[in-house]
Order: sequence, then structure tokens, then C-alpha cells
Amino acid sequence: MPFDAIVVGGSFAGLSAATYIARGRRSVCVIDTGSPRNRFAAASHGFFGQDGSDPRAMIAQARAQLATYPQVTFVAGEATDACVGEDFTVTLATGETLHAARLVLAHGISDVLPDLPGLAQRWGKSVLHCPYCHGYEFAERKLGVLAVSPLSAHQALLIAEWGPTTLYLDGGAMPDEATCARLVQRGIEIEPAALAALSGPGETLSGAHLTDGRTVAIDALYLAPRSRLNGPLAERLGCVLDEGPFGPVIRTDAAKLTTVVGVYAAGDIARAPHSVSWAVADGVTAGVSVHQSLAFAGLAA
Ligand SMILES: Cc1cc2nc3c(=O)[nH]c(=O)nc-3n(C[C@H](O)[C@H](O)[C@H](O)COP(=O)(O)OP(=O)(O)OC[C@H]3O[C@@H](n4cnc5c(N)ncnc54)[C@H](O)[C@@H]3O)c2cc1C
Repeated sequence: MPFDAIVVGGSFAGLSAATYIARGRRSVCVIDTGSPRNRFAAASHGFFGQDGSDPRAMIAQARAQLATYPQVTFVAGEATDACVGEDFTVTLATGETLHAARLVLAHGISDVLPDLPGLAQRWGKSVLHCPYCHGYEFAERKLGVLAVSPLSAHQALLIAEWGPTTLYLDGGAMPDEATCARLVQRGIEIEPAALAALSGPGETLSGAHLTDGRTVAIDALYLAPRSRLNGPLAERLGCVLDEGPFGPVIRTDAAKLTTVVGVYAAGDIARAPHSVSWAVADGVTAGVSVHQSLAFAGLAA
């Protein structure tokens, strides 16, 4: 028996979409592998009424509430393929196939971190991407920005709002004269040397080791890494992707409909910038859009 909708990804965006589909009394299947992007952080900041909550607890609570709706089915597993025919077919890693009239992609993105010793294990703790999420906690400490793209100088200009900031060029090109002037005006130090490693007790950061032998004291390092979509589903379905500031973004309209009729996309995969609040909002939009497209299907124009 096909579902009214399948949602691929059961985190902030996917559970929000599924909640609105279920509340519209339509059957919905949520497929999820259980690895939200912010799983590396102990606390999620900025979401209405949940500032500082454990992100996994937020998801578990939303999932438990959604599970009380009889219209909802959860599948623990990976969606590996999807195609359009008379309806949508989603293939799981087990080989099993599921069918639905509508599809919501909410499978998130992955950050592609630079290969710097000591960086990955501090991601989400003292190596961070977003000052609005994790800047307040490091206010007035020794802050750094790792240059990974031309946007990094802009990130440094912003991070300086939270404390004294150094832009680590990591052996890369010096920003142009105008940008350097703005960095200096903002009181930002520029460190041209390449980085060898990060260190500190446990997940704490205390030192940035440079390849010339120096060690610079530091409490938090920010970077805006490249990202990739979690899986090929959007491309397999023929959805148009745009190049966003950090990586590919699935193109959607105001209803979160992709360029393929019946396929919606919500959360980090379909926007930039990213946050839990925006993912939830996009999920709500996609869920309502799916519901109304089903409710009004076949009506005379
Ligand atoms: C370290 C870090 C800390 C952050 N802190 C904050 C913060 O404090 N506040 C804030 O607002 N934002 C924060 N963010 C951003 C936030 O994590 C994202 O904006 C949010 O998680 C996006 O939600 P999403 O539902 O789009 O994707 P995700 O939360 O990434 O969820 C995607 C879900 O899809 C599943 N999935 C992936 N592929 C498949 C597949 N093929 N089949 C089935 N399931 C699949 C995954 O397992 C996951 O459960 C942080 C991000 C990072 C990296």
C-alpha cells in the first residue's frame, strides 16, 4: 500500500514536514539513519524555547510526539535511490522499496572538514562554524578563523564582534588590499603561516601550532567548510541543484517544491545559511505544501 508521502531524513526538517502531513490526516513514512548534522555539539542554541538543549533530545522529543499519530510509519535505514513513475519509489539499502504519492527530501548535508590534525575531534565543541550558534559561549576569548575560502575574511570580520580575532591564512593567499584594510580596521590579526595541528586538553582548544614552530594561544577556531548533500537522491530524481556559498543546494520555490513535480526539499539541503530554526520552518512549509497538493489534486482549476 503506497504512502501519501515519504520523508527521507527524520531530523529537524523531516520531522517538521511529517508532523504537518500527519496532522492533515495523510499517511507518511519517515526514513532516517539517525545522524543529524549537529550531533557533534552537546547543545543547540537559538531555537525558540529550546536554547541550549541537547540536539539529540530535541529530535527524540519531536519523534516521540510524532509517533503518537497513527498515520506515521518510521523506517530506520538509508534511502539509497529514488525514481519517478506512476508514483515515487524509494529504495532502501536493504533493497526493499517503498512507494508514495509525494516525496520530501530532508536528508541534510555533511561538512567536509580540512585534514588538519586535532580539528575533527573538536568539531562542534571548540572548532565551530557559526557564531550565532556557538559564539556567545566564547565571548571575549581568543578567537580564530581558518581561511578555507574567499568568504573566510568576511567571516573573520563578523567573528570579531564576539572577541579578539586572528585570521589564519594557513599558508594561503593574502586577501586583497581593500579586504586587508577592513580586517585591520576591525582589529583583526592576520597570521600567514601554515597550520600544523591544533591541541588542547580533551575537546578544549588551547594551541594552534604553526609549521614554522610557533604555537599561538587560541580558545575557539571558526571555519565555514564546504558541504555535500547526504546522498544522490536529488540528482537521481532529476532535481536542479544550484551552487550555494558552501556547496550544492537543491533548488526550491517558496512552497519548498523542487524542480520535479511532487518532490519537495527542506532544511540544509535546500537553503543557505543554515540553522535548526530555518530547517524546522522549511519543514513546516514543505509539509503543508505536500498536504495541500494532495488535498487539491484533481480539482478543476
Ligand atoms: C557542529 C554543528 C553545530 C550546530 N549547532 C547549531 C545550533 O546551535 N543552533 C542551530 O540552530 N543550528 C546549529 N547547527 C546547524 C543545524 O545542525 C542544521 O541547520 C540542522 O541540523 C539542519 O536540519 P536538517 O533536518 O536539514 O538536517 P539534519 O539535522 O542534518 O538531518 C538530516 C537527517 O537525515 C538523515 N539521513 C541522511 N541521509 C539519509 C538517507 N539517505 N536516508 C535516510 N536518512 C538519511 C540523517 O541521519 C539525519 O537524521 C549546527 C551545525 C553543526 C555542524
